Amino acid sequence: MKDMIEQYRVTAEPYYRPVANEVEMFEAAYAAKMPVMLKGPTGCGKTRFVEHMAWKLGKPLVTVACNEDMTASDIVGRFLLDADGTRWQDGPLTFAARHGAICYLDEIVEARQDTTVVIHPLTDNRRVLPLEKKGELLRAHPDFHLVISYNPGYQSLMKDLKQSTKQRFGALDFNYPAHGVEVEIVAHESGIEAKDADKLVSIAERARNLKGHGLDEGISTRMLIHAGSLMAQGIPAVAACQMALVRPITDDPDMRDALDAAVSTYF
Ligand code: ADP
Repeated sequence: MKDMIEQYRVTAEPYYRPVANEVEMFEAAYAAKMPVMLKGPTGCGKTRFVEHMAWKLGKPLVTVACNEDMTASDIVGRFLLDADGTRWQDGPLTFAARHGAICYLDEIVEARQDTTVVIHPLTDNRRVLPLEKKGELLRAHPDFHLVISYNPGYQSLMKDLKQSTKQRFGALDFNYPAHGVEVEIVAHESGIEAKDADKLVSIAERARNLKGHGLDEGISTRMLIHAGSLMAQGIPAVAACQMALVRPITDDPDMRDALDAAVSTYF
């Protein structure tokens, strides 16, 4: 088991460009054993931030991409049948709590509510996880830390975290970084020159203004890095933008025209 947890250690420093005071705030929350919620649109650096913090704090990181079919057993664990009979297998949350990892539940709101409530006893000062099927009350390792992500743009009245869940977390807001910072990130991650990254960021800023006017979500930093990576492969900028920025986010012909026009303003 010791070796298993070592696989989750982040050995090389993940590049992360701080945007505000999020690094210090996270460190303080970790020290205070306060679970953390990262709020913000998709592709704006939440996952990268957790990876960076796990590396900085020297803790293993267990990441779970949540989905609507996920049951409590998927994250807590279950009995499996093998040649010798039944054997308990820890789910990712239990594994992280037992071995002192940071557990990152990505898009927790996607999971069913009966799944969400299993984290409750881990998030208050009890820091326990009842494994009812196994008859064990697991006390979390002192290094264990729970982090969840939450995209406020996706939430509806039908699907939202309960107040009783939200109030257990300290929250950090994430958004697309300021122009100059985003240029730096896109250039660093894709390998293109700053002047080209600057144009990509300008296109995204225009597209982000269309959010709510036909676009559900703006062009993310991740998408700009995709476009830059294609350009770094020698693909002409316009074709790269169409593939990485325009086509993935809309099928609407008028919206595609509007985005193509934004691209041709800069390239
Ligand atoms: P999220 O988890 O918010 O959906 P990610 O963390 O996967 O988004 O971010 C997408 C990509 O954008 C990352 O792989 C990384 O390359 C880049 N990125 C975004 N913000 C930053 C940042 N502040 N520093 C470094 N890279 C960033």
